[in-house]
Amino acid sequence: MYYKSTRDSKLQVNSATAIAQGISTDGGLFVPSEIPQISMDELQALADMSYAERANVVFGKFLTDFTAEEIAYCTSNAYNAKSFDTENIAEITGAFGDAHILELWHGPTCAFKDMALQILPYLLTTSLKKNGEDKKVVILVATSGDTGKAALEGFKGVPGTEIMVFYPQDGVSSMQKRQMRTQEGANVKVCALEGNFDDCQNGVKKIFTDAAVKEKLAAGGKMFSSANSINWGRLAPQIVYYVSSYAEMAKKGYINFGDTLNVVVPTGNFGNILAAYYAKLMGVPLGKLICASNINKVLTDFIDTGVYNRNRDFYATCSPSMDILISSNLERLLYLLTDGDDAQIREWFGALSAEGTYEVSDSVKAKLQADFVGGFCDDADTKKTIHDFKEKYGYTCDTHTAVAVKVYLDYIAKTGDTTKTLIASTASPYKFSASVLEAIEGAQTTEDEYEMVSRLAELSGLAIPQSLAELKDKEVRFSDVINKDDMEGYVLRQLGIAE
Ligand SMILES: *Cc1c(COP(=O)(O)O)cnc(C)c1O
Repeated sequence: MYYKSTRDSKLQVNSATAIAQGISTDGGLFVPSEIPQISMDELQALADMSYAERANVVFGKFLTDFTAEEIAYCTSNAYNAKSFDTENIAEITGAFGDAHILELWHGPTCAFKDMALQILPYLLTTSLKKNGEDKKVVILVATSGDTGKAALEGFKGVPGTEIMVFYPQDGVSSMQKRQMRTQEGANVKVCALEGNFDDCQNGVKKIFTDAAVKEKLAAGGKMFSSANSINWGRLAPQIVYYVSSYAEMAKKGYINFGDTLNVVVPTGNFGNILAAYYAKLMGVPLGKLICASNINKVLTDFIDTGVYNRNRDFYATCSPSMDILISSNLERLLYLLTDGDDAQIREWFGALSAEGTYEVSDSVKAKLQADFVGGFCDDADTKKTIHDFKEKYGYTCDTHTAVAVKVYLDYIAKTGDTTKTLIASTASPYKFSASVLEAIEGAQTTEDEYEMVSRLAELSGLAIPQSLAELKDKEVRFSDVINKDDMEGYVLRQLGIAE
């Protein structure tokens, strides 16, 4: 098996190169040349395995140029009880009607990004080693909150790597800022920028693509790489939890092997739900894939009409990780739905960047609607759902998960579908304490982050994640704030390289 670019099917690399490069040189995304299959016997065998062992099986099918030892090195370092607060890594709750919640936030930063970013550093360093690359990797990240912290925790202490994260000084929540400024590890750097997220992102992109900087870095034995969400090394780990969860649902007796399982995913960049689609194509009996959006409902409209249109107002919502108008991973889905028509992909994504819109053919739309259902929910309904779901079931969910719950409830009200369903929960409610508390209590009662956390603990009965609790007394290690024009100089100085 090899990986090809969505914009040029003839461009082919092995999985190690796809992961090391992140994005194809033609701007396309890497996709596997075929979809490996998993049989019902293999799915049944997963039931008795640990999460890391299940991951070995799935990675073995996708990363065919990796040895079993290399894969086991990666999975055992990522998915263990040191990094996650549960042996199961991903937990599945009991039944709420016909639905169960898949908690993907038991990792060190309490958001689902950990599922991929705990393993990416190992996949990346292993890939570089396989390709004979001996330079030290420098990861630059621009973050609006969640990704930066998850990347820091993932790369912390990983041999052969350094990581530097830039966040907008006034653009992240106080908990997110605290999480990053207190980051431990000898190979990490965090810096605030006087500017917004776009300034961070543009600055990082500029440094990445600057040939002179690249040369200076190489002379110092270093090279840049990316932990970006379009890297195949972030998508593959997400396929694992859908395959694993199907086996786990059957093991727990919630379904029988062979039964259809629907999935609901709170969606932004389309990575998480695309992973579910890959699992389905592999042969996991998944039914409807329900794509839940907040009021930035570009995906709901696309699934309903076949027209993707980003020319619309952008709203800041209480589910900020889904505030997105360009869902990058959709390109991979469309490549699959057009049977690998790279010319068509170039045309649509050219139109997206030039005009902000494209329309797919009726046959692609029909294929899309055969597997995917779209739905959305605004902030008022998100908060009402948190409140009502807690009243009814005693379960407290975060704002992103609540969007998914509401879209699921609308879906079953409309269709009467009683298929067993897994709702992906992408963040711990503690990560969005202010909105969750407001939803439960009807009004904001305190400004203090830790008073909120204690109050939420009282109301939800949910243990406060150790990693958030201990932040309170952690020393601030990073307090640099720089002007956006000084980013390049700052990066070079921090790396000990002359400007
Ligand atoms: C990143 C994120 C999402 C969106 O996931 P995609 O894979 O980008 O669709 C949803 N919820 C939370 C909490 C996130 O951090």
